[in-house]
Amino acid sequence: MEYGDCYQQPQSTKYDCLLFDVDDTLYPFSSGLSASCTKNIGDYMHEKLGIEESKIPELCNFLYKTYGTTMAGLRAIGYDFDYDEYHSFVHGRLPYENLKPDPVLRSLLLSLPYRKVIFTNADKIHAAKCLNRLGLEGCFEGILCFETLNPTHNSNINSDGEDEQNTELFDIVEHFSQPGNSQSELPKTPIVCKPSESAIEQALSIAGINPHKTIFFDDSTRNIASGKCVGLTTVLVGNSHRCKGADYALESLHNIREALPELWDVAEKKSEQMVTKIAIETSVIA
Ligand SMILES: [Mg+2]
Repeated sequence: MEYGDCYQQPQSTKYDCLLFDVDDTLYPFSSGLSASCTKNIGDYMHEKLGIEESKIPELCNFLYKTYGTTMAGLRAIGYDFDYDEYHSFVHGRLPYENLKPDPVLRSLLLSLPYRKVIFTNADKIHAAKCLNRLGLEGCFEGILCFETLNPTHNSNINSDGEDEQNTELFDIVEHFSQPGNSQSELPKTPIVCKPSESAIEQALSIAGINPHKTIFFDDSTRNIASGKCVGLTTVLVGNSHRCKGADYALESLHNIREALPELWDVAEKKSEQMVTKIAIETSVIA
């Protein structure tokens, strides 16, 4: 959907947009989705990419730390695969039933008179399922997701599932085992995702979001640090202690009113404007 006219805010407002991650931000880490996702990624690496099981935990750790997501890292070191198939494998079997409707959060979100946008590294199907399970449909103006930043992929995998290109794989575990080897010598990933600052800037640009008037909520300390670097006001979620680059820290989004009461200061002035906004259907920007 187009961003713009219907969300114009008075110039005097300090903030005009709230940007939210999904996983472990809109719902708690204790839901078990993250742990399940990690297991599914390992299973995908073994079953679909033929990676030896014993090597997976260490490899995942290096890829995640270096490239932002394991998926981005796998592409960087030479694996090619269909993105939709990957997402359907790692997200398709998540325990979504653990996510319950959260009417408290829904009410808080709807009472906040600002543009509200989702920004997740996950695919649009996963984001939509989470919002549906949490009862948060209609709370957000749009979803910035994997497909938003990675709209095309010309896979080298043919229709038989065979890899037509004999790409040599880069041994990242070996790379980091050698003292003196640096980040700069690592292969680049074609996948655009958080916590890359340019990925965040790209997403903000697509949605027409001004970072200097936006509050960014995320459970990842890396994403928070990058968000701060691009000019966002940052809130670390899931931890009451601030990390580097975090302006605020919240154990849960349920505490948002206590931590940021000023967000409601303008609520009354804007309540009439919001009547039309709440009714707008959430759309995926992909
Ligand atoms: Mg997250």
